[in-house]
Amino acid sequence: MHAALITDQETIEFFELESSPPEKDQVVVDITLCGICGTDIHAFQSPGPAWPSTCGHEWTGVLSAIGSDVTRVSEGDRVIIGVPPSCGSCPACHAGQMDKCQTVLTATVGRGPYQTPHGGFADQLTIHQGRVVLANSELSDEQAAQIEPAAICFHAVRANAPRLGDIAIVQGAGPIGLSTLQWVLAAGAGTTIVVEPNETRRNLALSLGAHHSIDPSIAADFVADHTRGLGGDIVYECAGVPATVQSAIDLARRGGRVSLIGLAMGDAPINPRRWLNKEIKVSAALGYTHEEFEMTMGFVSDGRIDLDALHSGTIDLTDIAETFVDLAGGQSQHTKVLVRP
Ligand SMILES: [Zn+2]
Ligand SMILES: [Zn+2]
Repeated sequence: MHAALITDQETIEFFELESSPPEKDQVVVDITLCGICGTDIHAFQSPGPAWPSTCGHEWTGVLSAIGSDVTRVSEGDRVIIGVPPSCGSCPACHAGQMDKCQTVLTATVGRGPYQTPHGGFADQLTIHQGRVVLANSELSDEQAAQIEPAAICFHAVRANAPRLGDIAIVQGAGPIGLSTLQWVLAAGAGTTIVVEPNETRRNLALSLGAHHSIDPSIAADFVADHTRGLGGDIVYECAGVPATVQSAIDLARRGGRVSLIGLAMGDAPINPRRWLNKEIKVSAALGYTHEEFEMTMGFVSDGRIDLDALHSGTIDLTDIAETFVDLAGGQSQHTKVLVRP
């Protein structure tokens, strides 16, 4: 079997790896589709190799073998990659904070006992059985491959939902922003304003229900005009670049809320005086629980959340390098690209 890994800045290499039978608590997944995440692109642009376990962390596939101790899934099941359930034995679990399990967190970043030798840019992956979730049978493969990032946004909006009627602002209309927009609408936001430099993505936001979709250069004036000078009740930061942390604060009203979802690499410059003046409440979110994963699949399968609109193309694994170059260039017309191994 073969796998593609980011081995250095703007370098993707293919490896032929030996297939081995699963250990007793492992399953072997034949990968059907794997999405390219913004963090994969960040890793591609950064010096040094990407962490192999997280390079391609949004996939669906079919189980071709299971270990002797595996009972919750069977050979032939269609599954989706997820974080493991809470371990029950780490200090956070012992403290009753099962949803803040430290083992789950290390797995989320591809470390610890649930780490894998590589990610889903491969035709096959052997993985601990705790990492797979049974796919809702009503989902297409394309939808199933996009559940992981949609669940990230679901978890974040569920933790920091708009109140009914709130003016909600979403910064960034990539796959994370467009998914967040839909959760924010489902959660009862009043007016929604999306801020995004790419025109194709702005139009996509409008087609998915955003009331306004604007370029960042006019965001401050536009938001002031549409909020009697107050700013948004809640701002979801989904652009994931350092400069947009402060701009999220700037677009919120005094006493408003900001939710950080996009992952900015490196430090972000902030202006503490403006944070204090606004008495702003900032929250951050990462990951999801298994139950939230199930809930996400429910919303997608009954059509309340549209992931098909986010899927802009499927490529063969052999074309992955040129697609990464295109996505890293910043001018790509793609939103979510799926890779077929
Ligand atoms: Zn991701
Ligand atoms: Zn734990």
